[in-house]
Amino acid sequence: MKKLIVANFKMNEQPNEVKQYFIKFVSQFTGVRADVVICPTFVNIPFARFLTDGSVVKIGAQNVSDEEQGAFTGEVSAKMLKAYGVEYVLIGHSDRRIKFKESDKLINKKIKTALKNGLKCIVCVGESLADRNTEQTYEVIRKQLEEDLRGLYENELESVIIAYEPIWAIGTGNNASVKDVENAAKVIRKVILENFSEKASRDIQVLYGGSINEKNYSPLLNSAGIDGGLIGGLSLNVNAFLNIVNSVK
Ligand code: PEP
Repeated sequence: MKKLIVANFKMNEQPNEVKQYFIKFVSQFTGVRADVVICPTFVNIPFARFLTDGSVVKIGAQNVSDEEQGAFTGEVSAKMLKAYGVEYVLIGHSDRRIKFKESDKLINKKIKTALKNGLKCIVCVGESLADRNTEQTYEVIRKQLEEDLRGLYENELESVIIAYEPIWAIGTGNNASVKDVENAAKVIRKVILENFSEKASRDIQVLYGGSINEKNYSPLLNSAGIDGGLIGGLSLNVNAFLNIVNSVK
């Protein structure tokens, strides 16, 4: 099975940079080893879609409103994203949980709205350094998953991907170890088993994200129970990102 690799551009890339990036990426991405989803900022989505049209590269959004439509100034709805050809959306990234104070209750509502509108949700979970140092990693992941996925039907989980992103590893250069990642994947699948089914726990795609680079990607993405990766900083370097997605096994 191919790995799923998701690029999170965060609030980076001007339109001229997006243009150069996608022209190069589309012409050099083989699509043999990995499926790729790239998540630019909202304003760059239509351009990115245009530049990837007819290719196997999928476009994701970095956020979505929990509301369907109406007087929600500054928000972008799931239906709008869908209309622009977006297939995936990141929900619950730690930037949003911490810097924008998003609660698990809000994340749960965003997931339900996104699913209702036909988007696939990449739900990010992970512990802080303080949680890790006090050995609360697994309780934190469990609580996030139970609250974020509360009330979902089992068949909806087919459109949900879980990204294990320890906060202390994001953008810090300190990636988790293979053991950390394998243990987290086990816990994630256990929570899915207990709250949904054995099939769901086996089938759900689990990604790892946090300081993936050209040296560490292979063991991390081949950790037991891991189906791919979520890559931030490195994904902005088109050559490095191409190297990973074209060579990962
Ligand atoms: C992220 O922002 O989701 C991420 C994994 O970033 P980085 O790869 O830079 O740690």
